[in-house]
Amino acid sequence: MRTTPAAAASTSVAPRPPVVELHQATKSYEGEVHALRGVDLTVREGELVAIVGPSGSGKSTMLNIVGTLDKPTSGTVKVAGHDVGGLSDAQLSTLRARHIGFVFQHFHLAPGRDAVDNVADGLLYAGVGARHRRARARTALERVGLGHRLTHTPNELSGGEKQRVAIARALVGNPTLLLADEPTGALDTASGGIVMDLLHELNAAGTTICVITHDNETAASLPRRIRFRDGEVVSDTTTGRRGTP
Ligand code: ADP
Repeated sequence: MRTTPAAAASTSVAPRPPVVELHQATKSYEGEVHALRGVDLTVREGELVAIVGPSGSGKSTMLNIVGTLDKPTSGTVKVAGHDVGGLSDAQLSTLRARHIGFVFQHFHLAPGRDAVDNVADGLLYAGVGARHRRARARTALERVGLGHRLTHTPNELSGGEKQRVAIARALVGNPTLLLADEPTGALDTASGGIVMDLLHELNAAGTTICVITHDNETAASLPRRIRFRDGEVVSDTTTGRRGTP
């Protein structure tokens, strides 16, 4: 667990707030489609959580709201203790840059730019100079096992390697929370297994991770599973030991 110097110096340290807190979050479109119907949810530091459910159950809506890319129709959303409801767009960008890393099903890498540049882009809004961005990108790529692919562009990488570059980009800013939306959805079984193993490793090293998936098998491999149906949480189960279904 990371400890700030201020926290270490204090004798009565307040516990850090949960990474995510949703209270009665709803999202409706045109007053008719109720994508989320009063969701209460807390994710604490160090958790590895599956947000699981069939297509249309509200998972992406939930990811967009937790990732502060969208606002709920009602209810409160806190990320790393910050109530996002009252923040301006600029403040939300800062919050995202500091606290949240995103991984998408289809990688979203810039074509024609090598792995180092793609990962360095993860620090564009973090106030880090170009040279340091590239140095930190190289370290992040080594961390995901791609130290030998630094100068490869996306079209020179396999699907699994592209997703590992995307994970390095999400992690390079050392975020409080990694949000992965169907991270194995575009991969073959073997590459998907490598990506899930990497997420387990990163979580064991301290990163809090939420994986959005429609796949029960992927969900079953994670220690906590929050199941959505029709915009509601229908179950929330945790197994004692990490990775045991
Ligand atoms: P999932 O990610 O589980 O497939 P979504 O969060 O994408 O589910 O969708 C939940 C519900 O909200 C679905 O009925 C979907 O059609 C609806 N929905 C999502 N986004 C919009 C939108 N921008 N406008 C209208 N309806 C939407």
